Amino acid sequence: MLKLYRYLNPFTAMVVGVLVFVFLQTLGDLYLPALMSDIINDGVMQGDTDKIMQLGGLMLLVAGGGAICAIFASFLSSKTAVGLGTILRSKVFSRVESYSLNEFDKMGAATLITRTTNDINQIQMVTVMIMRMMISAPMMAIGGIIMALRQDKTLTLVLAVAIPVLACVIVLISSRMIPLFRLVQVKIDKINLVLREKLTGIRVIRAFNTVAREMRRFDEANADLTNNYIKVNRIMAFMMPAIMLVMNLTSLSVLWFGGIRISNGSMDLGALAAFTQYAMQIMFSMVMLAMMFIMVPRAQAAAVRINIVLETVPEITDAEETKDSFTAKGYVEFKDVTFSYHGAEKPALRNISFLARPGEVTAIIGSTGSGKSTLINLIPRFYDVDSGRILIDGVDVREMSQEILRSKIGFVPQQAVLFSGSITDNIKFGNAKATDEEVKHAAEVAQAAEFISNMDGGFNHVIAQGGTNVSGGQKQRLAIARALVRKPEVYILDDSFSALDFKTDARLRAALKKETTEATVIIVAQRVGTVMDADRIIVLDEGRIAGMGTHSELLGTCGVYREIVSSQLSEEEIA
Ligand code: ADP
Ligand code: MG
Repeated sequence: MLKLYRYLNPFTAMVVGVLVFVFLQTLGDLYLPALMSDIINDGVMQGDTDKIMQLGGLMLLVAGGGAICAIFASFLSSKTAVGLGTILRSKVFSRVESYSLNEFDKMGAATLITRTTNDINQIQMVTVMIMRMMISAPMMAIGGIIMALRQDKTLTLVLAVAIPVLACVIVLISSRMIPLFRLVQVKIDKINLVLREKLTGIRVIRAFNTVAREMRRFDEANADLTNNYIKVNRIMAFMMPAIMLVMNLTSLSVLWFGGIRISNGSMDLGALAAFTQYAMQIMFSMVMLAMMFIMVPRAQAAAVRINIVLETVPEITDAEETKDSFTAKGYVEFKDVTFSYHGAEKPALRNISFLARPGEVTAIIGSTGSGKSTLINLIPRFYDVDSGRILIDGVDVREMSQEILRSKIGFVPQQAVLFSGSITDNIKFGNAKATDEEVKHAAEVAQAAEFISNMDGGFNHVIAQGGTNVSGGQKQRLAIARALVRKPEVYILDDSFSALDFKTDARLRAALKKETTEATVIIVAQRVGTVMDADRIIVLDEGRIAGMGTHSELLGTCGVYREIVSSQLSEEEIA
């Protein structure tokens, strides 16, 4: 947790402020009983009204000052903790943004969300507590003992018994509570995971009628957490009365033995009154310390989890010196590229070499799982190659800055993703500077203009979160329009026609061809019809290139291609 507290730097002044105010407040608290003792001894017992008024005024002043200090301390400590939380959240968020897909594959969205919200809240809460109690608890305990000794040494023997007893009670209880609190964190994570999976998969759950089963799974996780909390609360419920019992017994003994000493004449009334209050202060500070011992390990666990996020270094980062000047435009070249996913047994791609030129369409075809998406994900550097090189305009993608690299590319992913916002917003996502004319033109090329004009609001029609209010084919076309407004050098379309009917598919490709005469187009497709008229077709089979050439060339040379073709087209269509 200490590691996280380095982010407190900008708040140094406020932290010091809190500590000073808490110090002053505690000082006042320690002084008050002594003052009271003086009022009783020097004022009340002597019948000296002036003295009472004088000391009473001072007491009022000290108490009032203490209250003001407490207000400031509480205000500043909350402000500091919230500020720390804000900084941590933004640090975590920007770190997660810089992750490459490798890190996302490893960590998962559910736990990243819990860590940014719940775990940071934990840290925030404990920060307030530590700032307030770090000084006041030990000061109150030690100061209390010193002040009590000053009032009456013999009576302090009562405390010599009471304090160890209270300490035993506290240690016994918190040693049972700490592991339970640790578990709570793990269980909250579990609930978040189940909940997230269920909510994103709600359509499938409904469709397969598994609502009841999923409810049970959630109920189990929920009941698990509840039981844990109940256990914690049971111990808590026991803790308060136990502590109160010890405290009250202590008061009783102080009064009992104090009474004896007063009737002996070896102690005065004021000292006894002050002594009882110091005894309470000492014990109360011990309870505060115990609370800290319980809360801190819990926040510690949260801190460790946040640190893991902050310390995970993305595998894909910009080279120290990036080469960002190019002589050519739009050339994408693979040179003997081999790539495997982390933890995979065999490479997803092996010895891939080809050159895609501007003004040409390069198509990639192959069965599902043959590595098509993997291949094109390497171009924007979502993953890095194991061996070989990928060159764009003659420069290795690992040597240029990711920003420049990606600005060259218009990427349409296999699963079209839209964001909540209007259709225009979604298309402009590709290029914030695009004019309305350009947006409209892109939509026309992507064959989206017609269905957009049929929606109410047209381009202002609002896309729901996750794009649930448009069909799969509409989503694909909007994603293509989004890539088009970017006017990139390289278009990458991953199976982006799969949800379109044949007619729309053909029209879209014709329009696209006119639009992209100068750009390099790389199309992944399942349908032979989609790739037939490409300048170059790459046939992928289990991560290897099984053949490369035009449609008619491949028919003669590539068995895998012939198989795909004959499974899809009739004899006449092939010729
Ligand atoms: P295609 O797009 O041709 O259908 P992919 O490129 O998506 O195929 O997948 C190729 C292979 O890589 C498959 O065997 C798949 O299981 C594996 N794969 C894809 N994505 C990942 C990933 N993120 N982690 C591990 N393996 C993956
Ligand atoms: Mg794919």
